[in-house]
Amino acid sequence: MILNITTTYAPATDWGYVLHKHPDKLQTVELSMGEAHIFYPQKSETSLTLSLLLDIDPIEMVRGNKKSGSDNFALAHYVNDRPYVASSFMSVAIAKAFASALNGKCKERPELVAQEMPFEVMIASVAAPKGGESLIRRLFEPLGYEVRVERQVLDDKFPEWGASKYYILHLKNKITTQALLSHLYVLLPTLDNDKHYFVNQHEIEKLLQKGEGWLKNHPEKEQITKRYLINLTSLSRQALERLSEGELLEAEPNEWGLLSETEKRKESLHEKRLQKVAEVLLASGANTVLDLGCGEGKLLRKLLKHKQFTQIAGVDVSYQELLKAKEKLHYDEMSPKQKERITLFQGSLMYQDERLKGFEAAAVVEVIEHLEPNRLAAFERVLFENAKPQTIVLTTPNREYNVTWESLEAGIFRHSDHRFEWNRAEFASWAKGVAQRYGYRVEIAPLGEELENIGAPSQMAIFTHGN
Ligand code: SAH
Repeated sequence: MILNITTTYAPATDWGYVLHKHPDKLQTVELSMGEAHIFYPQKSETSLTLSLLLDIDPIEMVRGNKKSGSDNFALAHYVNDRPYVASSFMSVAIAKAFASALNGKCKERPELVAQEMPFEVMIASVAAPKGGESLIRRLFEPLGYEVRVERQVLDDKFPEWGASKYYILHLKNKITTQALLSHLYVLLPTLDNDKHYFVNQHEIEKLLQKGEGWLKNHPEKEQITKRYLINLTSLSRQALERLSEGELLEAEPNEWGLLSETEKRKESLHEKRLQKVAEVLLASGANTVLDLGCGEGKLLRKLLKHKQFTQIAGVDVSYQELLKAKEKLHYDEMSPKQKERITLFQGSLMYQDERLKGFEAAAVVEVIEHLEPNRLAAFERVLFENAKPQTIVLTTPNREYNVTWESLEAGIFRHSDHRFEWNRAEFASWAKGVAQRYGYRVEIAPLGEELENIGAPSQMAIFTHGN
């Protein structure tokens, strides 16, 4: 991934002072997961181009995770777009390579700090964000940038393959070097969906510091904040509150954790459901437990409180959910002993996975309804045939109960990502079939308060395997 900045400011060499980078030297800074090279590919009387070339080692990324003590948090992504797209790596490189300029300091020529200069920027590549080109414009144009976006083809030898999801971004503006670098520092990772390091409280400080003087009045400040903090609502909210200096935020209540009555009811139902699942797991006598589709780790938190569980593993297909889980569990602050009890890893319940083997119990809470019905058979084999824990506690919504949610129209599922919702008879028939096919006993129970003719909000099957 490469960032080129050209200025026609004269004398162009003055800019080298602001950047603290001599135009005749190639410099390299070490990053935790690769290197950044800084050089000037073009230099003339009238213009100067600076390049920041990032050389990211995807293997080092995985190793890097281990070194930082979080080897349980396996990101088994050796093949990914990280080396090629501008992301939080670029911000780290900018901060490391141009620390003084980013902080508005220039020892030798302090008068240059406030000097606005004409800049042309080229970044290859930017991963197309949700919102596409229009989002890119909404982020940069309010700050005075002229924006041009080039969509890259997947492979120029095979034009029929069409466009890739990557853009080359061109920006033009007349501003100070500090403003330019701080805009890039904040906005490049907001265009990316992933962060290579774990998002925590310090990120708020960085965002507010680098956004000083411009983020507060940016029309997209909410989007920027939320994306920068990768949609961790509690962090975004704190940051936005500080940006608005305590003004009350006009935001969708549910978006900010101020729950509506229906949502409060759902939350408390979910809490009870998880409590029940934890009780069943305790009663099973299991010491080692898998939480499949663990989401943000609500059940994991409950299980950690019980010493009976010596090994607890949370699995989810969504890396974002795992990041949330890691934060909510306060994983980074855990004692080494506590860390040994918990493992989080990314995986899909549709594929056989050795890591799922050897556990005494598994929980699958409100997950199967997120799977495509024609993939259920694959899931059954993964769990009941390959992983094969002695106890499996599985829950799913009871469709009959939907009539009690005022906000739900007939025939609509409770959650937009649900692929199906079963009534009690359908669930029982599936559960019995699975038990029979894989040699488990099954017991079915309602979850939550039961209503006449309708049943409870959720339903639970407890599968046990002989011996
Ligand atoms: N069990 C959690 C989360 C339920 S939401 C709780 O009760 O709070 C469903 C979760 O299943 C989501 O986090 C989703 O990312 C995950 N999921 C969906 N399909 C999956 C799959 N194929 N493999 C693993 N996890 C999956």
